[in-house]
Order: sequence, then C-alpha cells, then structure tokens
Amino acid sequence: MSGNGKMKAFVYHDVNDGRFVERDIPTILDPRDAIVKVQLSTICTSDFHVLHGAVPSANKGIILGHEFVGDVIAVGDAVKKIKPGDRVVSNVETFCGECFFCKRGFVNNCVEGGWYLGCRIDGCQTEYVRVPIADNGLTIIPEKLDYVDVLACSCVLPSGYFGAELAEIHPGDTVVVLGCGPCGYTSMMCARLFGPAQIIAVDRHDDRGEFALKQGWADVFINPKKQNVEEVVKSLTGGRGADSVIEMAGKDGTFELAWKVARPNGIVVLTAMYEEDQVLPLPSMYGKNLIFKTGGVDASKNQMLVDLIAGGKLNPRPLFTHFKPLNDISNIYNFFMNKEDGCIKVAITPYEE
Ligand SMILES: [Zn+2]
Ligand SMILES: [Zn+2]
Repeated sequence: MSGNGKMKAFVYHDVNDGRFVERDIPTILDPRDAIVKVQLSTICTSDFHVLHGAVPSANKGIILGHEFVGDVIAVGDAVKKIKPGDRVVSNVETFCGECFFCKRGFVNNCVEGGWYLGCRIDGCQTEYVRVPIADNGLTIIPEKLDYVDVLACSCVLPSGYFGAELAEIHPGDTVVVLGCGPCGYTSMMCARLFGPAQIIAVDRHDDRGEFALKQGWADVFINPKKQNVEEVVKSLTGGRGADSVIEMAGKDGTFELAWKVARPNGIVVLTAMYEEDQVLPLPSMYGKNLIFKTGGVDASKNQMLVDLIAGGKLNPRPLFTHFKPLNDISNIYNFFMNKEDGCIKVAITPYEE
C-alpha cells in the first residue's frame, strides 16, 4: 500500500498502452463483494489480448489481471462461504450460480457474469481487489498448500481442464495438444487424469516441448519446424490420427493442423483464443466426420481442481518459473511475452516500497 488509501495498479489505458499508476483501494459496493489483499498475481495471455484491443467487452481504464491469490480482508453482508482471514484463489469468471447457464455449469455465459475481473471491471495486477459474487469467485486454499501451489487455479488450470473434458478422452486414447504454453501444459496435465495411452505435445520451440516431457505432462513431443506432425501422429496411431486434439496454440496454421491430425470421427477442441477469423474448409474434411467443440473456459470446477492439487493428483506449480515484484509489472509483460530466460509464467509478488 502506498498510504492514504492508495495502491499501485497496472491499467489498460488505451490500445497498446498499459500504465502503472496509483488508484484508490477498493471498497465493498455490493453485499456479495469481498475485498482481497493480493499476495501473488500473474499475467495471462488474455491480458495481452485486452491490451491489443482484441477483446470487445474490455473497458479502457480498468486494472488488468484476473489470476491471483491473496487474503480476504472484508466481505459484504450477503457473503456466506468466504470470511475475512481466508486465503483464497480467484476465478477468472464472475458468475451468479443460479441462472439457466450456471445451473448447467456453463458459467462463462452466466446472465450476470462472465469474464469481469481485469476486463470489464478492475482486476488484480495491483494490491487490493474487489471480487463480485465472492462465494463463487473465490476458492479457499487448504492450509497444507502455499499460494503458488494454487495460483494456476484462477484460469490456466480450469482452462486446461475444460479443454481436456471437452476432448472426451477415454483410457488408452491418443491426445494431441497443440501449443506448449501455460494452457497447453495444463491441458496435458488434465488430459492425464482421464487415462490416455499417450499425450503428444506440438510446439515450434524445443525447450517448451522438452519441458512438457521432463514434467511428465507429455509422452511425445513434435516440433513442426523439424517434423511433419500429421505423419508422426499417424505413425504413432496405427495410421489413424489422434482420437482427440486440443488446440491451445491459436497461431498461424494451428487451426488447420488441429483437424488434420485428428482421426476420422475424432474430437477437435478449439480452446485457443484467436485474434483473427479462422477458415473451416468443409470440402477438404468432408467424410472425415469430425466433431468440433469451441470454448472459452467454464471455470465451474475450481474447488475440484484445488482438491486434486491438495491430493497430489495435479501439480501446476512448475509453471511459475519466475518471481518478480509488482514494481516491475511493465517489464514483466514483455519478459513473459518474449519467453525470456525460459519464462513460462511469472508469479508477481507484492509491491515493494
Ligand atoms: Zn487467464
Ligand atoms: Zn449465472
């Protein structure tokens, strides 16, 4: 805290113009709100999409960021589950829990929610955050876990689980994951929960693929700059192709690669956040009878993900390769985006006076 009820914050001022400024510390505005003191936050690729002006619902002037852990310091009168003193992890999505969509788990399309923090309202790349509908927007961290153990539960781990679940993986399947970024990695580790025979990671950077192998998240790594991905996947699947493909890369050509490496009647999951339209060449895939599923994460299972971490069944901790203070936030954006020093994700520690 900078004194006088002010705090430091990184703000989406305008397209390609993020600024580190002073803001008022937030207060309870709605009885369902909680105020959380941020202990660790992190930058998501989605924050870049906001900064680039590629998220139509984003409001200029908001504090960026939706992935954080911290301590609850105040709650509104209508908050039941969360109380001051609780250590909590945020949810990328704000949702009511009661509407048609929420009751079916489709919280991304909640009638009074969706992606709010760091998009439509102030987010977490700061010192204090107001979290609306806090009973749904926050998950309590079990005593045995550190903040960093669950920092991925805000967004990247739910996104990976969402992709893996859409992929309808059966024991013995072959799953291809396109993209060895944070959400590619979490897709792999969550795909593993469903018992596939092999997980094939695809990325244009050897170090990223090797990291997935080293962590045990993938069994095979293919670099499309060195090998023909379609041919290698076929050679590993009796000539068929993958049962499921999770496209998390969202880069040039990865949409096409996703449906090409899938076997006939396979499932192609498109969870990448594209900045441009993609072409669906139906004549080329006619008769392949593919199932396409698209999605922005429904982060409705964060308690389960925290439980899986506490139970030793998931470990996203290795994603956080670097720790840096909030003071350096402007530089951390580039550091993360340019993957400097092998950076996968940066855990941003509190502001240092
Ligand atoms: Zn995110
Ligand atoms: Zn709802």
